Amino acid sequence: MTKADLEFCRKTLEACLKNTVPGDAGESIRVNPVADLADMTREAAERDLAIELLDRDSALVRRLRSALDRIQDGSYGICLECGEEIAPRRLKAMPWAELCLRCQERAEVAAVRSRPVSAYLGFRRAA
Ligand SMILES: [Zn+2]
Repeated sequence: MTKADLEFCRKTLEACLKNTVPGDAGESIRVNPVADLADMTREAAERDLAIELLDRDSALVRRLRSALDRIQDGSYGICLECGEEIAPRRLKAMPWAELCLRCQERAEVAAVRSRPVSAYLGFRRAA
């Protein structure tokens, strides 16, 4: 991973963080999917979905912050699972990636298998 790649990822992470953290939007007014959903909370299903999105947002914020931390301490771009380098192309597309593609795919398969049946029902209801 080159210095330019690293700088690109750092800028992308900071921009994402700025757009994701509430009350820190700066001068750019972006369409906020969470705010939009909060406006139409008449239906319980929509409320559920909004809460789910909020949860996902805070998880993303955590990942963005920890990626920025890893850039600081020099461990950025190393898979947290196997310690191999994450492909720069993958990091440029998803700078908050914590796992290499192989480990990510393995983790996703494991997550699907361990997900309770109610998660599928919830997903289907929300969709
Ligand atoms: Zn890995």
